Amino acid sequence: MDESLIYLDHNATTPLDEEVFEVMRPYFIESYGNAASRQHALGKRAAEAVDLARAQVARALGADPREIVWTSGATEANNLALKGVAGSPAYAKRRHVVTVRTEHKAVLDPCNALEEDGFEITRLKVDGEGLLDLDRVGSALREDTLLVSVMHANNEIGVLHPIGAIGTLCKERGILFHTDATQSAGREPIDVEAMGIDLLSLSAHKFYGPKGVGALYVRRRGPRVRCRALFDGGGHERGYRSGTLNVPGLVGLAAALGKCVEEREQEKSRLQGLRNRFEADLLGRIEGSHVNGSRTRRLANTTNICFEGTDAESLLDRMPTLCASSSAACTSAQLQPSHVLAALGLDDARKLGSLRFSLGRKTTAAELDRAVELLSLQVARERSEGPRPFCPDPA
Ligand code: PMP
Repeated sequence: MDESLIYLDHNATTPLDEEVFEVMRPYFIESYGNAASRQHALGKRAAEAVDLARAQVARALGADPREIVWTSGATEANNLALKGVAGSPAYAKRRHVVTVRTEHKAVLDPCNALEEDGFEITRLKVDGEGLLDLDRVGSALREDTLLVSVMHANNEIGVLHPIGAIGTLCKERGILFHTDATQSAGREPIDVEAMGIDLLSLSAHKFYGPKGVGALYVRRRGPRVRCRALFDGGGHERGYRSGTLNVPGLVGLAAALGKCVEEREQEKSRLQGLRNRFEADLLGRIEGSHVNGSRTRRLANTTNICFEGTDAESLLDRMPTLCASSSAACTSAQLQPSHVLAALGLDDARKLGSLRFSLGRKTTAAELDRAVELLSLQVARERSEGPRPFCPDPA
């Protein structure tokens, strides 16, 4: 990496772990068999790697290996969970889905698609800190509610939702519970049994694995979840997801997740210490700066800060060595103010001047000190000069 760059955008993506890359390597070059070709040696070798990876991921979630379905990432996993369950004839009479306004677009957009197909969607409000009221969840549940989808950790503000309690609530009512755990997998404890989770999405590149590979956990017992495939084809993944498996990718996903789970508690406290000091330094040095979202119930690595009187896009443009995010990277192509910050009730000026900083494994105190210097200087410049005109890259 370019040594002068300060990478504080780990919620957008993380670098591939070099050890993980070495674990993946043989499956690109030597052991390139198709995992569905179990009749010959190379196919067997690939299939064994897939079985092992499936068992590793299942162990990390407290699941059974047969409950893991490989996907191309969390976008696909969320689509499969929501549209797959909604499209299953087993649930034809239940046409109501509950979700939250601060979910990722990869949940909100499939919900919009379901709405067009005649489903009723309840999009729950959050409070000014981004927190969800359990009673509000409870009172949204109906006789015909099929599914509740609530993310574990929010990608923009890091806020954690009480998914165990929501899972229990759903279980009591016989309602399916999906959680988008893209930002929490490998960072927060997850146990699908204890938390009453029926479907769970994750994506390897958020925990130092490769891009373009993810998984959906689909419960098999108590209850057995019925989920219709999005693609028709060779019937891979027990019919849930046809297509030749990305063996190196899923081997990498499993290795990366295993390593994060192993290092989790230690890494969490290191990141929390760094993040808290960074936040305190910024708030202390820069007048008119505020943290968006709850400061207690959130991921250890994330802080989202508003610098009053600035434009976040313009601010980032002034600091080419600092890699942070002005809104969710996945939606920044649209350059709309963040729907997450809007759901917290922030006014336009505050939404516009907010930056997300997300720390990671290689983040150091020295880098954060440099970031504080840069920000102190450039926020002051931005305030005196006004925002720079922003020209999006031509598509
Ligand atoms: N859900 C959340 C909470 C995310 O942060 C992201 C990635 N920004 C996704 C889903 C989509 O993941 P992917 O791009 O890997 O499909």
